[in-house]
Amino acid sequence: MAQEAHGALYDLLAVRGVSRRDFLKYCGSIAATLGLSEAMVPQIAAAIESGAKLKPALWLNGGACTGCTESVAQADSPDVATIVLEILSLNYFETVMAAASDAAEKVKEETIAEGGYILIYEGSVMTGFEGGTLVVAGKTGLEHLKEAAENAEAIICVGSCAVDGGWVMGRPNAAEATGVQGFLNHEGIATPVVNLPTCPVNPEWVVAMVVQYLLVAGDDAAKFLEMTPMVTRRITDAVYGTDVDLLFPKSLFGQTIHDNCPRRGHFENGEFVTEFGSEEEALGYCLYKVGCKGPQTFTQCPVTRWNRRASWCVESGSPCIGCGGLNWVDNNTPFLMRLSDMWLGDGLTYVQPGSIAAVAGGVVAAGLVVHGLGMKAAGRVPGGAPTEEMKEYDRKRMAKKGGDK
Ligand code: SF4
Ligand code: SF4
Repeated sequence: MAQEAHGALYDLLAVRGVSRRDFLKYCGSIAATLGLSEAMVPQIAAAIESGAKLKPALWLNGGACTGCTESVAQADSPDVATIVLEILSLNYFETVMAAASDAAEKVKEETIAEGGYILIYEGSVMTGFEGGTLVVAGKTGLEHLKEAAENAEAIICVGSCAVDGGWVMGRPNAAEATGVQGFLNHEGIATPVVNLPTCPVNPEWVVAMVVQYLLVAGDDAAKFLEMTPMVTRRITDAVYGTDVDLLFPKSLFGQTIHDNCPRRGHFENGEFVTEFGSEEEALGYCLYKVGCKGPQTFTQCPVTRWNRRASWCVESGSPCIGCGGLNWVDNNTPFLMRLSDMWLGDGLTYVQPGSIAAVAGGVVAAGLVVHGLGMKAAGRVPGGAPTEEMKEYDRKRMAKKGGDK
């Protein structure tokens, strides 16, 4: 069986013009994504090669733009991540599967009845109108999710919409969208949920998590959760108003963009872009003052990067708009301005803007000043001008905003 899977994989790779060398290089990138050593590459390759032995997976879509599907499918020129996902036993993948209508539903129902599968969920859970905003095969999206979630071994939420409702739950949230974990808590379904935000999801993270599930935990969801370092972030559910603890893999979401940003040296030197089209922009200075949310966004985009590791937002000249954050559209718009929301304390408690904007804004400003003073104390900022300039900038900005967002 393993031999067959091995052959099937390499046939698939060859047809798509991907060499064995490319494949092993890709396995190396998964190791880097997961924070594993190079020595793990052969084991990762073996885990993927035995793909046919994987537990089956279902990919369901809720309220979304299908951007995560696009991100993973890379329809014009599939990369190794796409091919690897193809060989996983994805029994149902609404937007790209060949099967349709009753045949597709039958495969899904059989998979659910047999159990022991991974559920990959894309999109928000639209609870409004009793779920009537999304109906597939005569059932609401809520019913589909409940059925599939109850029997799944684990759920991987791909993209920010599945995590907390994403852009779909942006004000006024007419469809009463929320995230999978919040919905399942409300329904009393305890299947473990792992969250992979950003808009869209990075395909390498999806593959990395599936490989980690197999490689580290040997197909055992409880072991996977026990052995995979996670960070927990608490939100208030957009629809139910309850506290919800979300689990994120620490290797992917344990550090901020800012921690790994190649422009960080400019931040520390007080060298900022204040206007697009300026000399500072041409010099590649820090984008903080034109809205970069890197300091409060916990994803490792600078490490994995995008489009076959070609580049990522800040490297290509755009401020990070914080799509890996929580309630990211309401909190981060307008995208090209600095805002006042941030993580506080140990970095795991999320502070929403609005009523506490003035307080949070003060903390942002204070944090930057402390950071600047630290740089100065460490001799990394000469003189003190950049620190003072940053402090002045924050003071003026907050005064202009009148403590409100
Ligand atoms: S561009 Fe953004 S992430 Fe990079 S150093 Fe500046 S503020 Fe931080
Ligand atoms: S760098 Fe920021 S905006 Fe870009 S994908 Fe990552 S989290 Fe989203």
